[in-house]
This record gives sequence, C-alpha cells and structure tokens, in this order.
Amino acid sequence: MKKKILLQIDHDDHASTFDSIVAFDSDIDHLLTYSGVTPIQVEPIVHGSIFTRGPKDLHNTAIFFGGSDVEKTAELFEQAKKCFFGPLQVSMMVDPNGSNTTAVAAVLCAQKHVELEGQKVVVLAATGPVGQRISTLTASARAQVTVCSRSLERAAKVCDKIGKKTGTTLTPAEAGVPLQAAQQIESADIVFAAGAAGIELLDENWMSKNTNIKLALDINAVPPVGIAGIEVTDNAKTRGSITCYGAIGIGQLKMTIHKACIARLFQTNDIHLDTDEIFKIGLELIQPN
Ligand code: NAP
Repeated sequence: MKKKILLQIDHDDHASTFDSIVAFDSDIDHLLTYSGVTPIQVEPIVHGSIFTRGPKDLHNTAIFFGGSDVEKTAELFEQAKKCFFGPLQVSMMVDPNGSNTTAVAAVLCAQKHVELEGQKVVVLAATGPVGQRISTLTASARAQVTVCSRSLERAAKVCDKIGKKTGTTLTPAEAGVPLQAAQQIESADIVFAAGAAGIELLDENWMSKNTNIKLALDINAVPPVGIAGIEVTDNAKTRGSITCYGAIGIGQLKMTIHKACIARLFQTNDIHLDTDEIFKIGLELIQPN
C-alpha cells in the first residue's frame, strides 16, 4: 500500500500552518510543504509528483494550493494544470486563505434552511475573496443577489465579473458601514456579512428593525464581529425570528468540507477542486442521499 503524500504549495514566505494542520487531520501519511513558490518553480515540483509513481498509483499523491493572495494562488494552480500529460497527473485542490471552503460552508449553512432560488440575498463587504465566492454561489443558485461595498464602483465591477461567469444579473450597492449597510438589508431575506477581520458591518440596531430577514450569517470571527448581536459560536441559533450563524458556527462545516475534499483527492488522480467542485462535495455532505 503506497503512502498518501500531499504536496502543499504556497506563495507566502511561510506556508499556511492552518492548511498544514488540516492536511494532517485529513488522514494523509506525509505532507511536503513548499513555501514562497513562484510560477516558474511550479513545473519541477509537479513533475516530481507525477514521474515518481506509475499511473495506477498516482491517486496516492495530490497537491493543495493555498496562500494569502487569491490571484497568486490561482496563477500557481493554473501553472500546475499545464504540467500534466496523459495519465501522468495528480488530483489538486485550491483554497487560498480558506476562501473556497469558507464561502461554500456559509452558503450551505443557508441552504440547510431555505431554497436559495428567488431569495433576496444581500452580501455585505462582498468584494473580498469570501464575499465574491458567496455572491457567485448564491447567484448560481438563482437568488437575487445584492453585492455591497463601501464603493459602488467596486461593487459594480464584482457584479459584472460574476454576472458574466454565472449568466445572472446582480445588483451593486454602496454600503458604508454601519448605517447604509443597515438600509441595504431592510428588504433582504438573507444577509451574509463577509467583511474583513475585526470590522463591524452592522451595529446592534439592525435586529430591532422590522425586516424580512430569515437568516443572518457572519463570517468574521475577530472581535468585533461583523454583525452585532450574533455570537461567533452561533450555529443555527434563533434570535428573535432570525436564524443566525457566526464564524465558528460556519467554521465547523468548513472544516468538515476541507477534510472531505482532501480525502477526495486521494480517490482518483484526475480531479481539480475549485469553488464549484468544493460546493458539490459540501452539498453531498449535508444531503447525503
Ligand atoms: P477581506 O478581503 O480582508 O475583506 C473583505 C471586504 O471587507 C473588503 O473587500 C472590503 O470591502 C471590506 N473591508 C475591508 N476593510 C474594511 C474596513 N476598514 N471597513 C469596512 N469594510 C472593510 O476578507 P476575506 O479574505 O474575503 O475574508 C472575509 C472574512 O472571512 C474575514 O473576516 C476573514 O477573517 C474570514 N475568514 C474566515 C475563515 C475561516 O476559516 N473561518 C477563512 C477565511 C476567511 P469594500 O472595500 O468593498 O467595502
């Protein structure tokens, strides 16, 4: 029985300890970590992974791409795809700064409660990696998505990019925090807060307002949280008439998804797990049949 070897490729000077620890918790045998990787360095690393074991054993080797800069990680991932030929390939997953697994977990937490199609979804601070992925996944599920940013121009750019990708129309909105953000959520069914760590997007007044909101999900775990009144540990906690999730509540599903994805990499040697594929794996976890 060949050992399960995961290569962790990261452009940061120090590869993510978070990703390393989750890898070990995902039942692999060995982790090879490469830090500070640039695009030109990808080919020899990938070639080392595909030329050592014969095609029938290559499912025991896989590659994980992480890093704090989403664009740089994507470049390394794309570079690696070009290094394969014929059966000489290994499975790969991309999750820069946890953005894929986090966004997928947040959207699936919402889907546990409502069918997203037709729902009015507002994503606050939607211009970051997590917010963009939440907006993409909810738009793909045919929700009516409003993309909020402190800058209308940034929100419009994100809407345009996601609209082209998903074939849907998203609405950009300016939402200075916390007051304009509170106005933007007034007619929403579901609100996601995807703001930077330690930034409060909605103050405590939002919950006492008469809104249609059924679900509120906050991704920021660093105090102050993104949505005042939600505790980081909220996991489908009912507050008034609203079902709430905090970052740690969402994080539980995120960790389960992350580990399931790593395990999936070792089933075959030819899968590439990006946002959509990770979403499908997450969906299987919450709807096993
Ligand atoms: P990010 O890129 O750092 O920030 C998201 C958005 O927040 C920005 O695009 C910006 O939007 C807004 N923002 C930034 N600084 C602000 C400020 N001073 N005041 C108001 N708004 C501000 O975030 P991310 O990487 O997408 O991550 C989103 C959240 O998920 C973070 O809180 C992060 O810690 C959390 N996270 C959690 C996990 C996990 O495993 N639990 C994993 C990944 C991320 P505009 O400039 O357009 O307004």
